[in-house]
Amino acid sequence: MKRIYLDNASTTEMHPDVIESMVDVMKNNYGNASSTHIFGRQAKALIEMARKNIAGLFNVSPAEIFFTSSGTESNNLVIRSCVKDLGVTRIVTSGIEHKCVVETIAEMEKLDNVTVERVKILSDGSIDHNNLEEILKSSDNKTLVSLMHANNEIGNLLDIEQVSSLCKEQNAYFHTDTVQSIAHYKLDFKAMDIDFASCSAHKFHGPKGIGFVYVRRSIPVHAIITGGGQERMLRSGTENVYGIVGMEKALQLAYANLERDTQYLRELKSYAIEALKNKIPEIAFNGKSGDIDNSLHTLLSIRLPFKDNLIGFELELNGIAISQGSACSSGASKVSSVIQSLFPKEVIENITPLRVSFSIYNTKNDIDVLVESLKKITEKYLQSIEQVSIDS
Ligand code: PLP
Repeated sequence: MKRIYLDNASTTEMHPDVIESMVDVMKNNYGNASSTHIFGRQAKALIEMARKNIAGLFNVSPAEIFFTSSGTESNNLVIRSCVKDLGVTRIVTSGIEHKCVVETIAEMEKLDNVTVERVKILSDGSIDHNNLEEILKSSDNKTLVSLMHANNEIGNLLDIEQVSSLCKEQNAYFHTDTVQSIAHYKLDFKAMDIDFASCSAHKFHGPKGIGFVYVRRSIPVHAIITGGGQERMLRSGTENVYGIVGMEKALQLAYANLERDTQYLRELKSYAIEALKNKIPEIAFNGKSGDIDNSLHTLLSIRLPFKDNLIGFELELNGIAISQGSACSSGASKVSSVIQSLFPKEVIENITPLRVSFSIYNTKNDIDVLVESLKKITEKYLQSIEQVSIDS
């Protein structure tokens, strides 16, 4: 049976050229970048070249890019160091951020001097900008706003420019988690006027265990991981040279083919929306996910009008790998907090949310198989519900 992978928001298949670039480094550049001999200097040169190339893609200076192990670490670094080093005593965020942001901010909230305010989420899953403005204007405390660019479960996109200009006006730092949007959209960090951004390579056909954080020049944050002082004292630990080179390669490939791939993915998502609507009229889309122009084109969040906790297994029997929500923490099929924040409890108890996430390696045939499987599952469920009502 052919296996179909539709869980690209969890992680992606690595591009063969990325693997090749990494293997080359593993074989030929095994030096420690901190060593002063030739092996170390060669490794260091690869890192600095990657930093320069990556910075160029986001229109920032190489001095503003710091390599980390993941999106999780990048988000932790920003949030924790803003409190520790910048005197931030108020964090403004939302309830639909990734768990690594939610949990880190919850820890900050336990500190005596930090308050956390959560922006209202509208019924379509977007941030209530008026509420954000009200919150920001309500206090002069030193504030960090942390709001993600693209939601990893429903695909809603934040209006970054609007939020960053509001933060500017109100003198607040602005951090955005760009883990799901980087490499799928052209992001000019300078023009977007943001202070911090987080990235993770495994979401765009790069390797796992490597990411970066963008820190606007001259913001004096310090390390949360201390030791040998690598990454200009901001992140200690021997550099993951092949990971950094792999991430650089994956980003270069993504941006070289951005237009072509965006068109392909938009077509694939539109095809999926139409096919699902035609074959399963009972289906609905979560957040802004069904609106192709206003949501992440790599992600479609759907819901079926019945509760089926085993749907993941049923789809897997048909060869389809899909997620029922965020797969970042555990395999649990519990309805995610993001979906829970969109619907009342009675609705949650009677729906099955599913996250379909695409990559350039998916085809329309993959979508056809998914739609047919979901159609059969839906018919079976609706028939059994009908049967119960006739019997009773
Ligand atoms: N932020 C978002 C929006 C994500 O989707 C993820 C992973 O799913 C992360 C952060 C965490 O990134 P990493 O897997 O590199 O720790």
